Amino acid sequence: MEINISQRLLDVASFVPKESRLLDVGSDHAYLPMHLIKNGWITFAIAGEVVEGPYRSAITNVQQSGLSDQITVHLADGLSAFSEEDRISCITISGMGGRLISDILEAGKGKLSQIERLVLQPNNCEDELRLWLMENHFKIVSEKIMIESGKFYEIIVAEQGQMILSDHQRRFGPFLSQEKSDVFLERWQRDLNKLEVALAKIPLGNETDRFAIKMKINLIKEAIISEG
Ligand code: SAM
Repeated sequence: MEINISQRLLDVASFVPKESRLLDVGSDHAYLPMHLIKNGWITFAIAGEVVEGPYRSAITNVQQSGLSDQITVHLADGLSAFSEEDRISCITISGMGGRLISDILEAGKGKLSQIERLVLQPNNCEDELRLWLMENHFKIVSEKIMIESGKFYEIIVAEQGQMILSDHQRRFGPFLSQEKSDVFLERWQRDLNKLEVALAKIPLGNETDRFAIKMKINLIKEAIISEG
């Protein structure tokens, strides 16, 4: 069976260490674990999915690909999809809001001590997710920003450890804000443009709203300005 995997999921997969024992949370088609197993990168994965329909399609795909010996599909909420004896070493959670990802990690945090790496791809609220990581003894070791079908996606890779992030780093990413890749600049330039349009529509007399937007504009300008 051909796997119709997106570049976004390929980018998430690229951060999974070789020979990991993987849990993919919210694995609607099981594409991510199937891709990694088919390429011989890993040999064991659990695809966890909380909703019946996507769970069924994950099972069908895994069976049709003949990968049932290596991928177990569980109908399960978040980290309840694995137990200690599965010896999971890496968890991927992608394609959900940053708040939901934080909630899933929070609900299962008693099971995270055995996990070596989290590969997270929030669709929004990246700052809240970075805060959760910081407050729960994870340190960010790598980040990537990519664009697909006109939408920007951030990938946050974390391992056990301590980090302290400033408000600026939480919002813009400790690595992303250092690297200032073209995609990063494009993403924040787009937000900046929207805010400038919004500012132009606020009457000059409404100083409170104008001030709030100007603050946001200034923060983005600081982030995209080149120090070179
Ligand atoms: N991970 C895939 C991706 O990145 O393309 C699927 C993303 S899809 C938008 C989100 C999936 O996560 C849905 O199938 C949803 O049912 C599932 N999901 C949401 N909350 C979950 C939870 N607490 N536990 C397991 N799966 C969950």
